[in-house]
Amino acid sequence: MLELDQDKCQGYGICALAAPELLSLDDYGMAVLDGPAAEAAPERLQRRAVLSCPAEAIRFVDMAGADAPGGDGAG
Ligand code: SF4
Repeated sequence: MLELDQDKCQGYGICALAAPELLSLDDYGMAVLDGPAAEAAPERLQRRAVLSCPAEAIRFVDMAGADAPGGDGAG
């Protein structure tokens, strides 16, 4: 699953372009995570969202609770 740290979000909007199924932008241009969609999304799409963010505001948390950076480079 994904977590979004809105304090880190800089409003670049890249995530909403890279993974529009999971993230959108609010009226101020800041990211909003669609939690249920993100939970149901394939891991590959979730990792794409993580890798898209230059501010490292999005992170992938696996089901065991351990977080990981963008992935193994396959994304
Ligand atoms: S790419 Fe990162 S900094 Fe930019 S809007 Fe998305 S979460 Fe925020």
